[in-house]
Amino acid sequence: MASEPVARAVAEEVGRWGSMKQTGVTLRYMMEFGSRPTPRNLLLSAQFLHKELPIRFARRALELESLPFGLSNKPAILKVRDWYLDSFRDIRYFPEVRSRNDELAFTQMINMVKMRHNNVVPTMALGVQQLKKELGHARKVPFEFDDQIHEFLDRFYMSRIGIRMLIGQHVALHDPQPSGVIGLINTRLSPIQVAQAACEDARAICLREYGSAPDINIYGDPNFTFPYVTHHLHLMLFELVKNSLRAVQERYMNSDEDVPPVRIIVADGEEDVTIKVSDEGGGIPRSGLPRIFTYLYSTAKNPPELDRPNVGVTMAGYGFGLPISRLYARYFGGDLQIISMEGYGTDAYLHLSRLGDSEEPLP
Ligand code: ADP
Ligand code: MG
Repeated sequence: MASEPVARAVAEEVGRWGSMKQTGVTLRYMMEFGSRPTPRNLLLSAQFLHKELPIRFARRALELESLPFGLSNKPAILKVRDWYLDSFRDIRYFPEVRSRNDELAFTQMINMVKMRHNNVVPTMALGVQQLKKELGHARKVPFEFDDQIHEFLDRFYMSRIGIRMLIGQHVALHDPQPSGVIGLINTRLSPIQVAQAACEDARAICLREYGSAPDINIYGDPNFTFPYVTHHLHLMLFELVKNSLRAVQERYMNSDEDVPPVRIIVADGEEDVTIKVSDEGGGIPRSGLPRIFTYLYSTAKNPPELDRPNVGVTMAGYGFGLPISRLYARYFGGDLQIISMEGYGTDAYLHLSRLGDSEEPLP
């Protein structure tokens, strides 16, 4: 345990850094900068992160301490707050990065920091879920609860995407770069290929859970490529395809009719690459539409327990798929829209900005 004066000094430091201005980067900047990962550039990058990351961690730590409805005092939220404080401390008190060796040690340290935060999403959700249950039992959920918590989680998870992108990119630049790859960015990413991989993963889970899985047809130019972060696109398509498979599967499970395939269409526009995931799974009632992008909203029958940290590997149930996917899309200037025809099916439009020059949103 830190002694009282030390704890106070750290708290002051968090307050000071948490009020400094964050500096956003763009996909294009990360690509241009990372295309020459010389020791000198890696040193510059480390020096930037040494200054930037404590600001971002401090802001989140401060916000975690001032949440409405007593959320800040929930054990799960305190745990997350401590992760943010620990990471602030690790980076803020790391000595100045001056040499190649400093840089390598710094890189190793921030990679550890990234791993510390691996389970932030389900842990936050657990805290929110606990609070909501308690307030629910006491019949005291205020009407503005959902909106306020939603806005907070959107800011919080968006910031987390940015922090993980910055650390992940810096760390990945130390690995050998296959042709066309710059850290986490594939400058020649084929959306068709990523869609195929995401479909395979989603169908495997569907097969495991239902014993069968609808077919998926993918349309678009297989030779078309554009620069993007592979694991971001994979994650978004995986979530959208899981939703479509589930809807179709549940609608046709007990019927003799032919199961209509899910269709994925990739369009390469000048401004956007748009990917449509289209299903005939019966759609979403219009009254339910405003809720599909909120956290914890799911129509899955047996929501899995949140304290088992396996978010993402089940078919549905956490209610995180859509809101998190939309954040990933927006992070690089894109967006996600859901259009439903109740009684027929759903179209999800994933817009990805091609220009790569939109600056990170910095909550
Ligand atoms: P989850 O899949 O864990 O329930 P999501 O955020 O992915 O959470 O989706 C939220 C809800 O939106 C789903 O529970 C479902 O009711 C509805 N939904 C999403 N996509 C579709 C779709 N393609 N067809 C029908 N309903 C959908
Ligand atoms: Mg889902």
